[in-house]
Amino acid sequence: MNAAPPPTLMLHDRFARELAEMAVPWQAEKTPDPRLLVLNEPLAAELGFDPASLRNTEGVRLLTGNSLPRGAAPVAQAYAGHQFGGFSPRLGDGRALLLGEVTDVEGRLRDIHLKGSGRTPFARGGDGLAVVGPMLREYVVSEAMHALGIPTTRSLAVVATGRSVRRETLLPGAVLTRVASSHLRVGSFQYARGTGDIDLLRRLADHAITRHHPSAAESEHPYLALFEAVLAAQASLVAKWMLVGFVHGVMNTDNMTISGETIDYGPCAFMDAFDPAAVFSSIDGGGRYSYGNQPVIAEWNLARLAEALLPLFHEDQEQAVTLAVESLDAFREQYGAAWSAGMRDKLGVADRVDDQVTSRLVDDLLALLAENRVDHTLFFRNLGSAARGASEAARAMFIDLAAFDAWTARWRALSPDAEVMDRVNPVYIPRNHLVEEALTAATDGELDPLNRLLRAVTSPYDERPGLERYADTAPECFGSYRTYCGT
Ligand code: AMP
Ligand code: MG
Repeated sequence: MNAAPPPTLMLHDRFARELAEMAVPWQAEKTPDPRLLVLNEPLAAELGFDPASLRNTEGVRLLTGNSLPRGAAPVAQAYAGHQFGGFSPRLGDGRALLLGEVTDVEGRLRDIHLKGSGRTPFARGGDGLAVVGPMLREYVVSEAMHALGIPTTRSLAVVATGRSVRRETLLPGAVLTRVASSHLRVGSFQYARGTGDIDLLRRLADHAITRHHPSAAESEHPYLALFEAVLAAQASLVAKWMLVGFVHGVMNTDNMTISGETIDYGPCAFMDAFDPAAVFSSIDGGGRYSYGNQPVIAEWNLARLAEALLPLFHEDQEQAVTLAVESLDAFREQYGAAWSAGMRDKLGVADRVDDQVTSRLVDDLLALLAENRVDHTLFFRNLGSAARGASEAARAMFIDLAAFDAWTARWRALSPDAEVMDRVNPVYIPRNHLVEEALTAATDGELDPLNRLLRAVTSPYDERPGLERYADTAPECFGSYRTYCGT
């Protein structure tokens, strides 16, 4: 791992070459006065960049697509998608570009992608731009997710462009440099299927198998195996979201990856008080993408993926549907298993304890948390202290103390392991009030709060003195939280 990084980075154009029908060659808009706001040095090194070289003028031009590395053939990717249940056959990168793929130091292929790089042929009415606040929000939340051990796209850098962008007011523009194991989405398959070109659909599936689920190629039914692998990855991913109280906010099929990485941090948030109905997005009045609905929506999205893949499952479409339905059936069981195993660890309960006992304990706890509006993250961390005998902090979070005491007695009888708990229950998450505070300051040019928040949330399990306010709940005056989409 000590090998010196290559002086100039080589980008591949594999997606652009293999799937040209879904790739529109395009260039990033010129940035008038680029200024690097934040750079992810460990990620840069992982990709084979010399981190220092990304800080100079040429490096910043590279991060915004204003200067292209060797081999780069940037494209806007075409995809379709169900947005809030309604189908759009042509969405695509309206304000984003795939610069190309890089082979990282471990030999893995990673996409280098820009968000906010100007209008593309997919922009429709949009301006193709992004602003500092939401791009830094994606940076903070995606890096927090990664540190929590949750598969996600990564954030390499945010560069302020020096250009004003019109939203409700004029705001400073920015470009996010995003890294992902790919940007293939459920919506990519919906797009390919929509063209009616089965050869394209097959090439897309083959591309996805090679990049993400190579074992599917060995299967007797590779395309069904691909579907089952995506389903398994998504069941595991959404269980992880649920275990940390993450609300994605806009689980449209164009925002669900084939790799199983979390993508598109728009109106996302971590819930404070436990509430299955928690919604933060200003445009999700019906609660379609509420916390508690996420597993059901994931399953619904996977059904849309299966529909898109039907011609590859079997020549006879009736048999193809039968196969798809059988495979889709596995989602609930796989999700349930991932969730139950995760909850066991959150409670520190050993595997030998009966499943039924644990599941009743979990159900009763969640009902109590909801009734008492208890902060999800802080509760589980305090429960770790309770496992060590100091239960006052957890107890003080409840109004109904008798109910808490009764539940705790049942839990304690199972000899919970505090160390297991502390490894999975984070101290620091990107709490909404802290994210807002950091983004407001950064929009005004003050980056210290952002950097402090990043230090806390990128080591989420490691409790450190001096960071108490990063572990605490929002002050009363913060009120109920709303986030805004598509900015
Ligand atoms: P999102 O909700 O961010 O996943 O985006 C949904 C679709 O809208 C995608 O096709 C985006 O490329 C497009 N889009 C979002 N914001 C903009 C914008 N400011 N300009 C152009 N296209 C946009
Ligand atoms: Mg999107």
